[in-house]
Amino acid sequence: MSKSSSGSKASNAGGQSIGVPLASSLPERPAVHGSFKVQLQKEQLVFSSAHFITFAGDICECLHGHNYGLRAEVEGSLDENRYVIDFIAFRESLAELVKQLDHHMLIAMHHPLILVDAQENEVTVRFREKRWVFPREDCMLLPITNTTAEEIAWWIATEVRKKLYPKIGDRLISIEVGVDENNGQWGCCRLPWNPSSPAMSNP
Ligand SMILES: [Zn+2]
Repeated sequence: MSKSSSGSKASNAGGQSIGVPLASSLPERPAVHGSFKVQLQKEQLVFSSAHFITFAGDICECLHGHNYGLRAEVEGSLDENRYVIDFIAFRESLAELVKQLDHHMLIAMHHPLILVDAQENEVTVRFREKRWVFPREDCMLLPITNTTAEEIAWWIATEVRKKLYPKIGDRLISIEVGVDENNGQWGCCRLPWNPSSPAMSNP
C-alpha cells in the first residue's frame, strides 16, 4: 500500500475530519521486541589439526590430532533487513579461520613451560626434555596459553569480532563460539561484541 493511498486523515459518516497519524494507524515496520540470535553449525566448518596440551601443572600430552567441529552464534538486535547478521558474512569469516587451522599443528605461544622458537622455515618447540621441530608452514601459532578447545574457541571468537565489529558496530551484544574436540566434547567461549568491553564471565 502506498503512503498516498493510506492518507493521514480520515472522514467519518458525518463529514468530520479526524486526524489520524500515519505511523500509528498503518505501521509499515511494526516493532518487534525480544532477543535475537543467529547460530551457525555447518558441515564444512570443521578442521583437522594436531596439538598437545599440558595439564595438572606439568603433565604434557603426547602429540595427537582431532577432527574439530565448530559452532558460533551472535546475539543482538535486528538491523534494517530484520536480521541479526548476514549469514553469509558470518559463515565466511568462520570459514577463513577454519582454513588457517585445518591441517596445521596448533601451538600455544603463551604457555609458561612450552618454549616456542619460530624461525623463517621451522618452529622448534620444547617442553623440558621433549623437543619437536615442525616446518613453519605447517604450524599455526596461536596467542593463547594452552591449545584447549576453550582457548581455540576464544581465539576464533576474537578473530571473528575483530573482522566484523568495524562493519556492524554496537548493534550486537555478544558472540559465542564452541569447539568440539571429540564428538560432543565442546569447549565454548562467549565474548562481548564490543572489543573494548570487559570480558564477561562464563555463565
Ligand atoms: Zn587433544
